[in-house]
Amino acid sequence: MPTLNDHLRADLDQLRAAGLYRALRDVASAQGPHIVVDGRAFLNFSSNDYLGLANDPVLKRAATAAIETFGVGAGSSRLVCGNLTPYTALEQRLAQFKNKEAAIVFGSGYAANIGAITALAGDGDVVILDKLDHASIIDGARQSGATVRVYQHKNLKKLEDILRQSGMFRRRLIVTETVFSMDGDLAPLAEIVALKQKYDAWLMIDEAHATGLYAKHRRGMAEAAGVEDSVDITLGTLSKALGCAGGFVVGSQTLIDYLRNRARSLIYSTALPPATVAAAAAAVEFVMSDEGHNRRDQLWRNVSLMKHGLAALGVANESRSAIIPIIIGDEAAAVDTSRNLFERGVFVPAIRFPTVPKGKARLRVTVTAAHQQQDIETFLKEFGDIAR
Ligand code: PMP
Repeated sequence: MPTLNDHLRADLDQLRAAGLYRALRDVASAQGPHIVVDGRAFLNFSSNDYLGLANDPVLKRAATAAIETFGVGAGSSRLVCGNLTPYTALEQRLAQFKNKEAAIVFGSGYAANIGAITALAGDGDVVILDKLDHASIIDGARQSGATVRVYQHKNLKKLEDILRQSGMFRRRLIVTETVFSMDGDLAPLAEIVALKQKYDAWLMIDEAHATGLYAKHRRGMAEAAGVEDSVDITLGTLSKALGCAGGFVVGSQTLIDYLRNRARSLIYSTALPPATVAAAAAAVEFVMSDEGHNRRDQLWRNVSLMKHGLAALGVANESRSAIIPIIIGDEAAAVDTSRNLFERGVFVPAIRFPTVPKGKARLRVTVTAAHQQQDIETFLKEFGDIAR
């Protein structure tokens, strides 16, 4: 009789044969453009620390001060005794930053999507997703018990077809990312808002890769598209441009009161450590400041440098963000390219199925404000040598 391990080994062997096996590497440094991986120094083009805040001294001081006062663990769920003062400060700041009535913080962006979607939709409802929505959105939709309908990536005609045929559902909830996490392209937000209004649906947006980066006040793509007041539920993460960890939802006070009462990933999970919460509040403060504005502008200068350099090497893409995919296609070839770069001291892991569709394996290059021009030039030289 095959044992549990026999079964698992057979599955893992299949993953290996398909070039899909995943392993962890040991990163022995803080996040930043230069990291130490498996004992060697690398130029890093793979983190979501877009503004270079993950190792920022101001955030670290805020975290350290919170540890001194509140210790390292929150002790319980926020609804029991874990709702330490830094949470109140962070949620007030987030609501102010996003110009909404209220905010609620979850343990991660993943937990925020799961918690919000399962709270808002259920049996008798329909959740409508873009084909390239993040796994946490898909998992939330599946777990909600609602019917799930998926439209091809950014295909407004298909979205409208689904909405037109959804009259029998009690609630219609559209969920889209605003900046797609693996392609770096943008959702057609104004058009989605028009459809949501026409068919009386609710709209939830995931601004994980837009928060802190887009529009005058750096609130995200909804601000850039001028549709903030038409979005019902806005999700963001504290884990990307804000450099910390956690997820949040902003919206009406009623929405936030409802999530506090119904979102299971909030209710049944220990609150984030106070250090993280305090650091995140400092990050929001930074993003709202003039310095945050300048840092964001530096990011876009770096993105432009990278995009022009890649275009000169014949790599075209539709990215409108700090996420610049280099599509390789074949899974093994993507792993090979990544390994070649690794040997040259450049760290960009290959992204493969199931994170992206089969045959669409890629290097997901991310640029941050902390990269120097020299870093980007080094990347372009090393990648150019390999691609030639
Ligand atoms: N939404 C999107 C669009 C994401 O890309 C991610 C993270 N990859 C998440 C949600 C989850 O956020 P977190 O990493 O904070 O759990």
